[in-house]
Amino acid sequence: MCGVFGIHHHDEAANIAYLGLHALQHRGQESAGLVAFADGKLRQEVAMSLVADAFNRDRLAHLPGQTAIGHVRYSTAGTSELRNAQPFVFEYAGGKISIAHNGNLVNADELRAELEAQGSIFQTSSDTEVIIHLMAKARDADVVGRLRTALSRVRGAYSLVLLTSDERMIGARDPNGFRPLVIGRLKDAWVLSSETCAFDLVEAEYIRDVEPGEIVVIERGGMTSSRVDLSVPAVPVAPTFCVFEHVYFARPDSLVNGRSAYRAREKMGRALAQESQIEADVVVPVPDSGVPAAIGYSKESGIPFEMGLIRSHYVGRTFIEPQDSIRHFGVRLKLSPVRAVVDGKKVVVVDDSLVRGTTSRKIVKMLRNAGAREIHLRISAPPTTHPCYYGINTPNRSELVASSHTLDEIAKYVTCDSIAYLSHAGMMKAVGADSEAGAGYCSACFTGNYPVPLGTAALVQLRRARI
Ligand code: AMP
Repeated sequence: MCGVFGIHHHDEAANIAYLGLHALQHRGQESAGLVAFADGKLRQEVAMSLVADAFNRDRLAHLPGQTAIGHVRYSTAGTSELRNAQPFVFEYAGGKISIAHNGNLVNADELRAELEAQGSIFQTSSDTEVIIHLMAKARDADVVGRLRTALSRVRGAYSLVLLTSDERMIGARDPNGFRPLVIGRLKDAWVLSSETCAFDLVEAEYIRDVEPGEIVVIERGGMTSSRVDLSVPAVPVAPTFCVFEHVYFARPDSLVNGRSAYRAREKMGRALAQESQIEADVVVPVPDSGVPAAIGYSKESGIPFEMGLIRSHYVGRTFIEPQDSIRHFGVRLKLSPVRAVVDGKKVVVVDDSLVRGTTSRKIVKMLRNAGAREIHLRISAPPTTHPCYYGINTPNRSELVASSHTLDEIAKYVTCDSIAYLSHAGMMKAVGADSEAGAGYCSACFTGNYPVPLGTAALVQLRRARI
């Protein structure tokens, strides 16, 4: 998963973009990068680290100019190394261009093979580079035309922020609108961001979302809008925003798809309590991501909410560490139980999602060691049964515990006294979907219904996992 940010026409562009990336840090912690435009040049600073460690006063001073774009990355396609850190800067027939991408293209492998067969030489292993090569080959006179031509060939998820060598900032979102991208104003400047929480930090005003399938071009004269060209081949596309942004990914203080992520999570917690109420002494969230749902569960059930688990703020999101060994160790590093809250109690533990089940298993063990008498696990989303191919990092299907185990088996593995998940309909109602079935949302990770056909690599992986 990744976060993108851009600011056009501001005297402190790089500083503002740096702050914007800070607010988007939860979307990716492997690399951070900024590219700024000044005197006809695009200058780049990237590092394999958190935003705070990637930049200091000196590095930011290397990024003069009034327009800058930035990216934080957690790799879902391409390996975790500096050459894949974005924003990329490329030189091509149309000039120089910088690109920052959130999402995953599902036909990148096929397009890459085709482009390589025609002589393209790729510099990274990222799917994003395919877009640049397609732009380089396009015949259109203008960079926006080239981008439109390139995007007519790619399939899957993209929320893009681009910066051209004539100081235009471009935002684009795939026709399904899988990943978020919002537009804001900061005095005279235009701002683009993955989430509104970055606007709050830099005191920009949220204007609206970039629409699914929309390309916005920001230049000195203002902003113009056009559509991604889907004429080749003609495919009618209905928006399918990622429901997992609401469940887990987005920061709770963000407006996601026009709705408060916090309120959606609270509603999920309320719905969960309605669907699977149990008598207990205390509702304990798995911090931080389980907190709003646990508050909702507590309000609805009347069972008191208490912080029975404390999170250390000096370790990052453990799931997000690429190596398994670090992730497993991380749970104990990250969370510790509060004996005073759970000792001798019947505890409802609320988490937003259960993926492999390893986190919950460790939490249950911790709480039992701290004296909890009974532990009832409540998950404020349906069982995660399928991997995401549109940009969220989920493991292979075979590692998703709910893809091959019943509820009883999961409870046994996690060693809790009972387990219940929120229903799909309950989740969709909480996010304000147009129908109980979830019109307007992608929930492939919970259903296996992939709204955009998968490329060969993804299909091979899925088939293998079924064996
Ligand atoms: P697991 O141990 O694999 O079951 O991990 C479940 C925990 O990871 C839950 O507490 C979630 O909040 C969190 N989580 C779920 N999906 C993701 C994701 N894509 N990236 C990072 N963390 C996640």
